[in-house]
Amino acid sequence: MKGLKGKNVLVTGATSGIGQAIAANFATEGANVALNYRNDPDKLEETKELIDEMCTQVGGCGGRELPVKGDVSEEADIIRMCNEVVEKLGSLDILINNAGIQTASPSHKLKTSDFDKVIQVNLRGAYLCAREAIKHFLDRGHSGIIINVSSVHEIIPRPTYVSYSMSKGAMENMTKTLALEYAPHGIRVNAVAPGATATPINSWTDDPQKRKEVESHIPMGRAGTPEEMAAITAFLASDDASYITGQTLFIDGGLTLYPDFLKPWSAGE
Ligand code: NAD
Repeated sequence: MKGLKGKNVLVTGATSGIGQAIAANFATEGANVALNYRNDPDKLEETKELIDEMCTQVGGCGGRELPVKGDVSEEADIIRMCNEVVEKLGSLDILINNAGIQTASPSHKLKTSDFDKVIQVNLRGAYLCAREAIKHFLDRGHSGIIINVSSVHEIIPRPTYVSYSMSKGAMENMTKTLALEYAPHGIRVNAVAPGATATPINSWTDDPQKRKEVESHIPMGRAGTPEEMAAITAFLASDDASYITGQTLFIDGGLTLYPDFLKPWSAGE
């Protein structure tokens, strides 16, 4: 993809699921990838091995990997992490706000601490990472790119996951607000919104029965793969998307197309 070779990319939550696939995909594009991980050295090793394997398959990637430990719910960690990337890779070109969590509870019983945690990771963390990245983009005086990993729940209400839905709904406005504010500086801000994707965040991923039930609600009849999310993320970060900003691209097999209307049921036929 155009314009990714040699770029310095920071991926939050890079050692699992969608983030891992995004990081590995950027590596195969020849980018230098800073792998943010929270406290899972085994998953970090697994991610490095995946990148090595994928790079071997394409005859070598040429970029660097930089592990950066940090919890995106902690402001101090975010500042340290962004400084470390700039110091060790020389600059930051692309930020991927991917780290995310969810908590299920009937909304009237949701504990304040659980609500706060989801907002702190998914929304406040993404904003603070964007803030630090933008400071750096402005300091060095040229363009930069931010991609937020949102969700179909940016627009689809999700009962019993109110904090998750709220965090992704707000992410849409954050994407648009930052895109508008910094467009004159050549900074592009976009989002990808995955539908149901087979990753460890979902209990159905490795349960064939539950997975079948999930997939029965998806017009294309199957869950998405982390690699499908990674490909569109790379596209939005590339020069092929140089005139796109403030947009959310839904990657969902048709999940946001009101699947219940696939067969007419409201016209009295
Ligand atoms: P996952 O659980 O496999 O990965 C989440 C990653 O975030 C992990 O690497 C985890 O360590 C990291 N993380 C969590 N809290 C963190 C913190 N405080 N600091 C740093 N890192 C932290 O799940 P996933 O499906 O790969 O999720 C990635 C993103 O995709 C999330 O933002 C999620 O909301 C979004 N998403 C996923 C789906 C899906 O169906 N899998 C659908 C829509 C959106």
